[in-house]
Amino acid sequence: MARVTLSSPVTSIAGIGPAAADKLARLDITTVYDLISFLPFRYNDWSNISNVYEACEGDEISFACVVMTSPNTNIRSKARPTTFYVGDGYKRILLTFFNSPYITRKFAVGDECFVHGKVTIFSGRLQLVNPYIEKKSKVNSDELVKPVYHLTEGLKPNFLPKWIKTALELCGDQLVNVIPQEIMLKEGFSDPATAYYNVHFPKSLEESEKARRQIAYEELILLGIGMKLAAQGQTEGEIAERVIPSGSDSLSESVKTRWKGIISHLGFKLTEDQIKAVREIQADLQKSTPMNRLVQGDVGSGKTAVAILTMAMTALMGKQSVLLAPTSVLAKQHYDTAVKLLDGSGINVVLLLGKTKSTVKSEIKEQLEDGQASVIIGTHALLTDDIRFKDLALVIADEQHRFGVKQREKLLIKHDDVTGVNSVHNLVMTATPIPRTLALVLYGDMATSIIRQKPKGRQKITTWFVPSKDSADIQDIIRSKLEAGEQAYVVCAKIDDEQLDPNSVTRYSDIPDSGITSIFQMKEKLDKTGITSQYRTEVLYGSMNEQQKLSVMERFISGEIKILVSTTVIEVGVDNPNANVMVIMDADRFGLSTLHQLRGRIGRGSSKAFCVLVSESRSELALTRMKMMCESDDGFELASKDLELRGPGDFFGTRQHGIPQLRAANLYTDMSLAQEACDAVNRVFDKGGEEASSLKTAINTLYELRFAHKMEAM
Ligand code: ADP
Ligand code: MG
Repeated sequence: MARVTLSSPVTSIAGIGPAAADKLARLDITTVYDLISFLPFRYNDWSNISNVYEACEGDEISFACVVMTSPNTNIRSKARPTTFYVGDGYKRILLTFFNSPYITRKFAVGDECFVHGKVTIFSGRLQLVNPYIEKKSKVNSDELVKPVYHLTEGLKPNFLPKWIKTALELCGDQLVNVIPQEIMLKEGFSDPATAYYNVHFPKSLEESEKARRQIAYEELILLGIGMKLAAQGQTEGEIAERVIPSGSDSLSESVKTRWKGIISHLGFKLTEDQIKAVREIQADLQKSTPMNRLVQGDVGSGKTAVAILTMAMTALMGKQSVLLAPTSVLAKQHYDTAVKLLDGSGINVVLLLGKTKSTVKSEIKEQLEDGQASVIIGTHALLTDDIRFKDLALVIADEQHRFGVKQREKLLIKHDDVTGVNSVHNLVMTATPIPRTLALVLYGDMATSIIRQKPKGRQKITTWFVPSKDSADIQDIIRSKLEAGEQAYVVCAKIDDEQLDPNSVTRYSDIPDSGITSIFQMKEKLDKTGITSQYRTEVLYGSMNEQQKLSVMERFISGEIKILVSTTVIEVGVDNPNANVMVIMDADRFGLSTLHQLRGRIGRGSSKAFCVLVSESRSELALTRMKMMCESDDGFELASKDLELRGPGDFFGTRQHGIPQLRAANLYTDMSLAQEACDAVNRVFDKGGEEASSLKTAINTLYELRFAHKMEAM
């Protein structure tokens, strides 16, 4: 018989025939390796049992008990429930099994059993519906923790552990280790075969947790490094300008002085994460390989400041950089910020929009061409063919998802026959909380800088839910902020009777389009309360002309306009620290990511910020999402909860397709683990030698088994 290897088809395992193989394929298990790395999603833990006495509704409990009444099937009821009581000497609990008449034959009064299930209340009694139950006599005393796997129809629960055990016995010793020695020692990890054995057949939950952690490391290394190794060679040949000369102390005294001047002039202290991001970017700019970096940070974390500082450094080195914004409102705002932050630095900042007057435009174009302008901010207008730069070295794109990749490439492609430079450095900023591991897949082989800390002095935003549009709370909160000299946002999901906000979706909500409050209706509503005659109120929406939009924004930021009634056009980047209350009407119409982005507009000043979510939807999904928004203002946390909802998640939308499913690692919570794992591997690679080459081989091997053959189908 041929030797069974990790890449052998599952049918090489005794007991798996073609029919079972088909079913396994539905779980994405085709090889022996797939089988071994198919992890339990939870365990029934009878090594650590609770007692029924303490059970409360909603608890998931494991306990040992005795059957107290004979199982009885009610054949008159359609779902044919079989019920009986079990007890643990303190209290009894009803077990109910639907459509499982065989239970009556299997269990009798006096049988000792292990049960695992979730406690519900039915007619005032505690009950478990379709719990996991096993006779104590059938459970091995050293197998008290039972793995539970996601199954597909027709696969018996007992088969999978049996096959996995066989697979591990046959091929466990072929599993290679991809985790650097340093981490193995620090974490006290075992050899891979033991880790896989322990994750499937642990003696305790702690043992399984440790094994899972080891496998998470393995998985993250495969994704983070394996893909890089596989992609190596693809970007070879791209050469960018070294913006900063390499060497540890490469900056001239005058540049250092000017740089220090800029930093001390900011008006705030950079957060540690911002400093780290700036350093990482500067290290990239010392190389002639093009930078390809993602700066990721929640709304308001200070990414724009990092971008502007990067542009300033580039300017100090005598080179040009471009910051692309998705809208003119945002471009203007970045421009204002850059002018403010770089005031007195002698750096020339210019703004170029589609609407810029042609005389001004040609003047700016000249400045781009002769190199007078070094920090260039703008929109698509910068991507036209007739724009030429003297020495463009860096392109920063804000909120990349709003740009077509093709458009950006226009700026990236450049060629200088003398120096061989054929690319610019590339930096992307995003507020979408994409875990590094996921970013690798979504953005290709990009390095990531993460800004997690919020600038000091930021207040937590208090969010609450108002279930009725007629609630007086809505005006009360707006009024109290206005009386304090502050400003307010009111966001609606509809522009007028005809047009919905493009971000408005029905998938979370049970309110029809006709029931949505438009910005004009909202304005009228506010008019009736008298609030708008006292405080200047204007509307803002995407299809207004650019000039009008900019004017409204400017007057809102300057404080002339007190209440801004708008659609989600304000979602991206608008920055007015004096506006600290936001009312979102029909909040159920927006995805969590949109709500979070919107809310990020407030809480930028020192005063307490309030976000009011108004929704008359009573759909469970809508209410759950409102609750999540009220409980957290951390984008990463919201995204990970969104992932858990498993409903129509909106942080990634349809892009979630084609992303390889991870088995042990959690894309969100294990972010720092991913970083640590990849850093450790890279350190080994840098050192070279035997460990480096064996790790490289191991990573290539497992990457092939784990991802490569699956990616091709994507
Ligand atoms: P993001 O682009 O991540 O949403 P911004 O860079 O626009 O965030 O920063 C939001 C606001 O916070 C801006 O007004 C900016 O000037 C300010 N800011 C940025 N960094 C800091 C800091 N370290 N301390 C205080 N304020 C900061
Ligand atoms: Mg921003």
